[in-house]
Amino acid sequence: MTYDAARAALAAWRESFPADPYASDAMLRSILSRALEPERMEALDERASTFARDVVSVIAPAAQRYEQRLHLAELNRFDALGQRTESVSFDPAYHEAGRAVWASGAVALSNVPGSAYEQATLLYLLSLEGEAGHACPVTCTIGLARALRRSASSPVRERFLSALVDPNYDVAQRGAQFLTEVQGGSDVGANACVATPDEGETYLITGEKWFCSVADADQFFVTARVPGDRTGTRGLGSFVVPRVIDGQPNGFTLRRLKDKLGTRGLASGEIDFVAARAWPVGPIEEGFRTAVSVVLNTSRWMTAIGSAGIMRRALIEARSFAHFREAFGVPIEEFPAVRRTLADMSAASAGALHLVFALTELEDRIDADVESDDDLLYHRFLVNAAKYLISRQATSVVRLGIEVLGGNGTIEDFSVLPRLYRDAIVYESWEGTHNVLAAQVLNDLHRLPILTTVATRLNATLDDAPKSEVKASLHRRLDAALENAQRCLDDAAYAAWHFRDVLDHLGVVAEAIYLCEAGEPLAADHLLLSFASPGYDPENDDELADRVNALLE
Ligand SMILES: Cc1cc2nc3c(=O)[nH]c(=O)nc-3n(C[C@H](O)[C@H](O)[C@H](O)COP(=O)(O)OP(=O)(O)OC[C@H]3O[C@@H](n4cnc5c(N)ncnc54)[C@H](O)[C@@H]3O)c2cc1C
Repeated sequence: MTYDAARAALAAWRESFPADPYASDAMLRSILSRALEPERMEALDERASTFARDVVSVIAPAAQRYEQRLHLAELNRFDALGQRTESVSFDPAYHEAGRAVWASGAVALSNVPGSAYEQATLLYLLSLEGEAGHACPVTCTIGLARALRRSASSPVRERFLSALVDPNYDVAQRGAQFLTEVQGGSDVGANACVATPDEGETYLITGEKWFCSVADADQFFVTARVPGDRTGTRGLGSFVVPRVIDGQPNGFTLRRLKDKLGTRGLASGEIDFVAARAWPVGPIEEGFRTAVSVVLNTSRWMTAIGSAGIMRRALIEARSFAHFREAFGVPIEEFPAVRRTLADMSAASAGALHLVFALTELEDRIDADVESDDDLLYHRFLVNAAKYLISRQATSVVRLGIEVLGGNGTIEDFSVLPRLYRDAIVYESWEGTHNVLAAQVLNDLHRLPILTTVATRLNATLDDAPKSEVKASLHRRLDAALENAQRCLDDAAYAAWHFRDVLDHLGVVAEAIYLCEAGEPLAADHLLLSFASPGYDPENDDELADRVNALLE
């Protein structure tokens, strides 16, 4: 092949990216059309297609610019006259993308209870660009808006909510959520920030927050210790802190912006609060409950959606590249080893998509306030399990995509994959690390009859699936996974060493079940083949602790 022909093949690959990645995503549209009434589907089709085109034509080129080191957000603590502003400035391209994102309605729909399918679809499409610079603010704003709508007193809701759900980016206020402190992110109960009662219903917040994404936000959701002798997470309240009061920064200084591996378009800072005026979100003694059940769970759901979008993009890039790229005189898609990799990516991406939309169905009902008690139990399991499983799968799938593109896959301006890879790793950490989410699931299984709900729901879904060979083997795998989960409940030492393996296995089996139900038995079968290794040998379980401890001595 000549130089020109090789370059033409690469150009053809770049050109092949769909102008409307919603229209070309038959699997996504099939999930939505099975779930939604025709009228709602029609409206979503139009909204999603318009936004998908904007993702390709407006957001992609903008993100490519503002995610580069020279165009990252900058901290401006003072203005030209030396007055404190504590502001963050962005490249104009960042705001150009933001206008398109906000115009999609992804955030404004927070004001329409029961819009989870729409919000998930829009975030998934945005994540095809791995665009955390706005995906994170969208997620944080939706979480705060939900918390205000569902938990806050009427005066607090009226004061703060409407500005958050304005679809006009140039006037809308954006939300952030600050829980993590320098002494620990997983251990939120170690929060040392304090909230002291002030006039009326307001509090004054003092202390440090260590990871503050959307450092430019207009409203901060903040956890802080409230007066009383309650320790750990039980002593935390949840508050909304407006950025500015009477034109001045409201009792905070932005120490610095962090230089991050991924999500670089996003401004993440460290903030010191000194007597920042704050309004409680929900009852003060239920602060941690509000933070987890509304704000963090919204973020976990959206992180899982974002991870599924990242996987879909990696698959599109790799499949089309393998079609256009030749080696040894043939398109590389003809090599069985490449085909196997593409099939692994495809099955993982499909499994993740089906699992996050099973979660989205619950989100939709909970947000519309029509959920059953059993929905709440299943949601409690699925929101943590999906974020845990899919954020890890995303990193693996993007890495496989980079492998298919070869050395070119590592080049920043050759494809979006390096950025997706860096972002996927961040998605793994925030909103709960793997161990923390697995521990949360285990704790919930102990406290509530969730395992029964999981068993009933997954068995019923599998029973409803069209007949296929994989169905019988899935029943056996599901039984084994549930048995192992039960063993973790009966044997704390076993659980401490093995629960992550058990959850990995159960999660992949759940993905395969949803694929089967959707009439995708081939993808289900391949997913099990490539990803459902239990990761441990039950025969040698008892030796694991001794072996690990010996290795680390
Ligand atoms: C780019 C970025 C932006 C972020 N933005 C925000 C933000 O806006 N607001 C916010 O509040 N936070 C934010 N975070 C913080 C994030 O939520 C935390 O990093 C995360 O919760 C983990 O906390 P940590 O980093 O302190 O890790 P640690 O809590 O120190 O954990 C370190 C390791 O120990 C493991 N570990 C901890 N406890 C246990 C246990 N009991 N059992 C087994 N293993 C355990 C963890 O799984 C992890 O692997 C952001 C993080 C990143 C990377």
